[in-house]
Amino acid sequence: MEFLIERGHDGPARFGNLKLGTLSIPTPTLIAGVSIPDVKLAYWTVGRDAEPESKQRIAVLPSLATIDSGVVDRINSEEAVLLPSLPPSSSLGPEFAMALLREQLSVLDYHGKDLAAPHAIVRIPPRLRPEDMDSLVSEFAKLGVRAAAFLIDGSLGPEDMRSLSLRARLPCNWLALALGRVNPSAIPMLCYLGFDVIDVGRAAGAAFHRVRLWPMGSEDVAGSGELRYCPCHACMSWRSMADASSRIADSTLISHNVGVYESLLSESVQAAHAGHLRYLVESMTHSSTAHATILRVVDKRLYGYLEEFASTSGGGVLPLIGPESYNSPVVRRFREYVASRYAPPKHKKLVVVLPCSARKPYSDSKSHKLFTQAIDFGLQRARHSAAEAVVTSPLGVVPRELERAYPASVYDVPVTGDWDAEEVSIAGEALAAHLAKFDRSVVVVAHVAEGYEEAMRAAESRIEQSIVYTTDGHSATSKQSLEGLREALRDLRDVLSLPAGPRDELGEILRATADYQFGSGAGEALVTETSALRGKPYGTILCRVDGAQTCAFVGATGSLSLTIEGARRIAPLKRYWVRFDGDHIEGGSVFAVAVREADPGIRPGDEVVIIGADNAVLGVGRSEMSGREMCEFERGRAVSVRHKVG
Ligand SMILES: [Zn+2]
Repeated sequence: MEFLIERGHDGPARFGNLKLGTLSIPTPTLIAGVSIPDVKLAYWTVGRDAEPESKQRIAVLPSLATIDSGVVDRINSEEAVLLPSLPPSSSLGPEFAMALLREQLSVLDYHGKDLAAPHAIVRIPPRLRPEDMDSLVSEFAKLGVRAAAFLIDGSLGPEDMRSLSLRARLPCNWLALALGRVNPSAIPMLCYLGFDVIDVGRAAGAAFHRVRLWPMGSEDVAGSGELRYCPCHACMSWRSMADASSRIADSTLISHNVGVYESLLSESVQAAHAGHLRYLVESMTHSSTAHATILRVVDKRLYGYLEEFASTSGGGVLPLIGPESYNSPVVRRFREYVASRYAPPKHKKLVVVLPCSARKPYSDSKSHKLFTQAIDFGLQRARHSAAEAVVTSPLGVVPRELERAYPASVYDVPVTGDWDAEEVSIAGEALAAHLAKFDRSVVVVAHVAEGYEEAMRAAESRIEQSIVYTTDGHSATSKQSLEGLREALRDLRDVLSLPAGPRDELGEILRATADYQFGSGAGEALVTETSALRGKPYGTILCRVDGAQTCAFVGATGSLSLTIEGARRIAPLKRYWVRFDGDHIEGGSVFAVAVREADPGIRPGDEVVIIGADNAVLGVGRSEMSGREMCEFERGRAVSVRHKVG
């Protein structure tokens, strides 16, 4: 058995190939007992089930005692072996869970590498303490084990949460199996959380109890009521054969049930390829409160795991429809990056706080064109003194300079002006943190109404600056409100004696984007006092320092791409570096096998600096995986190289 991970990510979800001998099964995939037809991968219990003819199978050992040399000899190179555990292990405490793992370890140790490296799948009991797992997993890894199975009881309660938390601690290059009573609606979430093989044995169990499974919920077909219509092949052929009184056959139910799992798996895989798996997971939260609850807990407890694999760039629209999006990894990361990395230009005397628009980027919207006109008119040649901050849910605050950064440029939310308490609190907190970065003497011009105003008022007690409200309280775009904004700005220009001066929009966009992408200090390193900037705000902007280009801002993606000179300027910050094993990059890629070390802060989609053993810059490019994966994987493309030295 061998597991190879391929390119591409959507959160922790990944695509791979499970090789059993000469057979290769694309993952994520489904697994079920040998008696269930139509499922690619089968498990069979040694000594209980007849040995199946199919080669795509995993042998389940019923007890540790059954692993004698006879069994080991019988296992061929095309088979994986699921190590035994005790059925009620989920109800036993952490000491017992640890003892079970130690027992599996000692059996493998005894039988040596013949069994461990190519075949064994270790079972992780849900009650295992996370810290115990880390140490035991490294012992299994020393023996060559690269696969682990986790128990799912299907309740999506605390017990399942334990298994999910343990899954998050598995090394990146291990195969992860979810075994147990998995409902169809859990398939997208299990894929999202990085399970590669998912048990759908429940298809048969449900059929036995006369239950037809659906993507959301199930249907009892034992009664005499009318059956729900289904266009699947199994149900259609049963319907065409049956008269009105005949019962739906068990075999039909199994085929239908498997079909539902297959359909959700294929939907999940397609969504993952499109970068929309998280959205599919969120939409499944409407199938039950248990779903909604566990996603909230997952977001809270496993944020680090979800975020580590969430891409920092993306195409297409990012739909954020309900409360389950408020703390999704890309949303929360945006808030945290803005809070920790954005630094306002020092000369600002005013901050104009504006509401977001449905259209992105904001400055292309009708409302923002009106705001811009009003600000230009009110401030005239003192326009450079004003910073703009756009309040939005659930991203919090988007500084104007970052309106094209991912995901600010692509998120889509219902813009109604009515906010719930959580949205008000999230935006209020972001506003307070944002405004705290400005000098106390700065005046905050709050051109906000409705939910936006509520967020502003919620933050008021934590804001040190004076605040001037300028809308009529109902609409930021009404004639009266826009007039209010113009007048307030004109008055402030006089009262504060704001000086006339040139605007530095290009420099502000470049510096803010550099800090957002690479962390504090990057803006100053790339765009200096002597920089020559060319381009259009939010279009393409080129930056040259002392005659050499350092970076380019690409409006379409809202991100910076570095030149070698830019990489040399960023390198001393010691962030976003990948250490290459060699002194010269061949071709257009750096593969994981050639990566010695990498900044663990790297996410898929980041602009990264490739350095050699002596820290010399060898190239720049875009990461295809997280920093930890670059170090742990033995294959796969780690960086797509854009520029290289020599
Ligand atoms: Zn059907």
